[in-house]
Amino acid sequence: MSTTSPTSLATVYGYPRQGSNRELKKATEAYWADTSDPERLLATTRQLRRERVELLRAAGIEEIPSNDFSLYDHVLDAAVLLGAIPPRHRETVPDVSTPQGRLDRYFAMARGNDQVEPLEMTKWFDTNYHYLVPELGPDTAFALDPDKPLREFAEARDAGVITRPVLVGPVTFLLLAKPAADAGEGFEPLSLLDRIVPLYADLLQRLRAAGAEWVQLDEPALVQDQPAVVLDALRGAYATLTAVVDRPKLLLATYFDRVGDALPVLRDSDLDGVALDFVGPAAANLAALTAAGGLGGKRLVAGVVNGHNIWAADLAAALDTLESLRGLAGRVDVSASCSLLHVPLDVALERDLDPEIAGWLAFARQKLDEIVTLTRGLTAGRAAVADAVNARAERLAARAASPLVRVDAVRHRAAAVTDADLHRASPYGKRDQIQSEQLNLPLLPTTTIGSFPQTPGLRQARAALRAGTLNPDSYLAAMRDEIRDVIAEQEEFGLDVLVHGEPERNDMVQYFAEQLDGYLATTDGWVQSYGSRYVRPPIILGDVSRPKPMTVEWATYAQSLTDKPVKGMLTGPVTMLAWSFVRDDQPRADTARQVALALRDEVTDLEAAGIRVIQVDEPALRETLPLRNADRADYLAWAVESFRLSTSGVRDETQIHTHMCYAEFGDVLQAIIDMDADVISLEAARSKMAIVADLARADYPNEVGPGVWDIHSPRVPSVAEITEHLRVATDVFPARRLWVNPDCGLKTRGYPEVRETLTNLVAAARQVRTQV
Ligand code: GLN
Ligand code: ZN
Repeated sequence: MSTTSPTSLATVYGYPRQGSNRELKKATEAYWADTSDPERLLATTRQLRRERVELLRAAGIEEIPSNDFSLYDHVLDAAVLLGAIPPRHRETVPDVSTPQGRLDRYFAMARGNDQVEPLEMTKWFDTNYHYLVPELGPDTAFALDPDKPLREFAEARDAGVITRPVLVGPVTFLLLAKPAADAGEGFEPLSLLDRIVPLYADLLQRLRAAGAEWVQLDEPALVQDQPAVVLDALRGAYATLTAVVDRPKLLLATYFDRVGDALPVLRDSDLDGVALDFVGPAAANLAALTAAGGLGGKRLVAGVVNGHNIWAADLAAALDTLESLRGLAGRVDVSASCSLLHVPLDVALERDLDPEIAGWLAFARQKLDEIVTLTRGLTAGRAAVADAVNARAERLAARAASPLVRVDAVRHRAAAVTDADLHRASPYGKRDQIQSEQLNLPLLPTTTIGSFPQTPGLRQARAALRAGTLNPDSYLAAMRDEIRDVIAEQEEFGLDVLVHGEPERNDMVQYFAEQLDGYLATTDGWVQSYGSRYVRPPIILGDVSRPKPMTVEWATYAQSLTDKPVKGMLTGPVTMLAWSFVRDDQPRADTARQVALALRDEVTDLEAAGIRVIQVDEPALRETLPLRNADRADYLAWAVESFRLSTSGVRDETQIHTHMCYAEFGDVLQAIIDMDADVISLEAARSKMAIVADLARADYPNEVGPGVWDIHSPRVPSVAEITEHLRVATDVFPARRLWVNPDCGLKTRGYPEVRETLTNLVAAARQVRTQV
């Protein structure tokens, strides 16, 4: 017998901020270009928020969030809310008594300016959204600045909507922060919990006084493995917050994965409601909740519509989940699994989409309809939504059977992969000998990571080609000119292994996605990456294959211009998945294998065309690591397998490189070894080559190119500085297995600093060569 009250509500935790025409981007960038009119920016954002509330209300969302909007980032908003402003930003923008002062300080923290460095930026859990990392120390002068949540609540209230303000919860806020540079040895931001909880308590009372009935506290950090001290901190913080008098009801939200050990803490707390994710690996929340005997009388908000991906939901399955949840809580409401911030706005905005495929997709706007339908199904019974559920089932069946999705030849090929396909002919030791003879490189060979500066001219040429105002022949000629210049520059610097410079690539994933069958590009599927930066991730729609070579023409043209080896440049299978929306109808491992086979064809074609060095970039390998430790081994197994599958089809004499960006490599060192690339380049300049010692300790058997130039800065390192980096590296790692290269691609830098740095880099390598 169910104790659930018959009515359920439709809600969401957040909605895309940008506006249907990316008005937010335009308005913020206009403000950055000319800061004299803050009111114009503020008026635009008020208008955008008003439209969002209207849209959500009209769609049938009954409990609408507020404060999920942000001018730049919600973690930055939380830092400002709590007064966690680093001294350098206070000092550069001391006066925040005016709207312009407030904006200028906020954007100084977000983006820096000519006097001050911004906060660091990093990925928000397993999404491609980046948040700004709060910097905290024992001296952080917390003080509540409640203006934003109160104002946004009042705006909607005055328009007749009582919203549910959304805040980053105190535990997650501190776990996402990093110690300020002067915080002192061993300082842990979580030690500040007792200092920020009273600010939350104060804010809760103010929101209640303003009329808020519910407030949502987001604690996604709970979906990661947390030690007992964190769970104790959680218990303590929420004991305090739930004891606040005259407070709104509190909904604690977790998303992106299962809540694990935190579940009993939440269940036993005095929280009024808990929001849990029930899609993907988080579907395990259902069994856990059942085993725990449910949430008692608390409200459960069930995230049953995937907020992290773009597929139309299986409504029948979601209803099954919702019905199983009945009886496990005082009341069950329906939501997306996470904020809809991570999906594009609206399928209807697509200008170039086959209507059949459109029916398989659900962007943010479509997900609202799904949530409303499911809520009705839960409240009024399945019969009330039978038409929608049946129509959806038919569409999903059509999708599953579509020749765009299922390509037997691809599936057979993937099924026929053998262990031999995952291994080079000989072990590294032998390959190394053969490659040294063939390539005849000096000790400490020099190279770059692939791209060269993307000049306005290149971007214009690509845009003109797309717009049809530049014909393909002229475009080809323009790219060839660029490649010729880039090769000539590199010969001038004296680099040993050259690159063609990637002038033809808009983006390292999109470029390949556009050429592979099984991928779909969107015209308007913008998703916020950070601040005013939006990306349009491609969609992996069906079985992936390569109809024809993708890079061979560029690489061979470049090679024809020089006697030095030119390095072919591809994006690896893990990254091709990580920065796309992936299929939900088969395991990622299967999709990765198909992509790997397509890339394997490209790798062997490059080899056949005379390219002797081929780099397969995997910058996303570390960041795609599952949130829960228990899921990592399985992920790393398929990640490594797909890399090996894409690169093992070549002869011993062909040298395979890979590249990864900054990351804490500790958890993936063994995987990096298992990838068995002949050479790996890694970002290392900012960490002063620490990674080289880590690799030495792990007995990394192959070759390494630790970056000696921090690509995030235009500052040119001197010969002496690079020499010093190289000495640190050669002290701990055999020189004959070291390469000399900058960090990451050069595409975001300008030619002046690239020229100077690479000249210095070659000089430093020459100097160190004579000394080891
Ligand atoms: N080959 C790419 C480039 O140089 C690698 C970029 C990256 O690692 N993110 O731009
Ligand atoms: Zn990189």
